[in-house]
Amino acid sequence: MKITDFLITPFQHKLINPLKTANQHYSHRSGFIIKINSEDLFGCGESSPLSGFSAESLKEVSYALESYHLAIMDIGETSVAELLSFIPIHCEDLPSVEFGLETAIYDLASKIEGKTFSQYLNPNAKDQIKSNGIVGIHTPKDNYKIMKVKVGFRNLFDELNNLDELTTQFGKDVKFRLDANGNMDLPRAIRFCKEVEKFNIEYVEQPLPKNDLEDLAELRNHTSIPIAVDESLTDFHSAEKIMNAQAANVFIIKPTVSGGFTTCSKIVEMATTEKIISVITSSLEGPIGLSACAHFASALSIDEVCGLSTASLFEDSFSSPFSIKKGVFYLSQKPGLGVGINVA
Ligand SMILES: [Mg+2]
Repeated sequence: MKITDFLITPFQHKLINPLKTANQHYSHRSGFIIKINSEDLFGCGESSPLSGFSAESLKEVSYALESYHLAIMDIGETSVAELLSFIPIHCEDLPSVEFGLETAIYDLASKIEGKTFSQYLNPNAKDQIKSNGIVGIHTPKDNYKIMKVKVGFRNLFDELNNLDELTTQFGKDVKFRLDANGNMDLPRAIRFCKEVEKFNIEYVEQPLPKNDLEDLAELRNHTSIPIAVDESLTDFHSAEKIMNAQAANVFIIKPTVSGGFTTCSKIVEMATTEKIISVITSSLEGPIGLSACAHFASALSIDEVCGLSTASLFEDSFSSPFSIKKGVFYLSQKPGLGVGINVA
């Protein structure tokens, strides 16, 4: 193939309602759309680091993308392997850039072969992925079997009341994923887990600060509820550290935060051998990044319920290449990601 154009376009998406976690407040999402053209086909990707999770700044992302652009500008006839080989050189420690560039390259390559993005990466990839709903956005009418609940910012009495109300509202068969975003200490987390064991809890996510791996391992000795890590997991190296510390039962893998398909597949492979469950979640990306997360999950044969139901958070009416019904995310069956919008 021959690269005929490469465009980097900054974007900003506004959330319908600001999203609060235990320690972050999101009203907008900013980042870059990458568009790689080869003759009349294009591939697109999204690099939008998430504050509170990603270590890199928008400026660093912009410089790295420009540097990649310069490297491939006059490359002439090239291949997917060669385009991918330039990524580690230009995005060391910049996982959102790795994710955006890999997405754009694979989107283009799969369109050239007339395959969906996930089937280009894995011929056995399924066309649907299960997803959890989010309390505050989705209602019992949306028919999710698993709901995500933000916790860790109320006193224990109010946390238990909230879970009581949610159980009444959603029914006893619905499971909850409780995400504390690292806002507890060990004694509080032990007490919290003990008290919430009577509810239908799938796991408690990031109960302790991201670097408290020893305490996470200790917490696991005090509760039957599985412990998931999210903020602690930022790349392959951190995944290894978590595994060695025996700090988690579940890895929450965010491709924008941890890297592209190459890194995510290494993390999932290692987790599988250690009997750690892998869940792929979006990081409040727009339609390109969100579609890429879903296709990654499909290509990695993730059977767990993932966290991909975030499109309805945004004001812009995205021309979504996917649909979600009753907790199932249906991938586009068009070639590539299926994102048809003219993004740049
Ligand atoms: Mg989380």
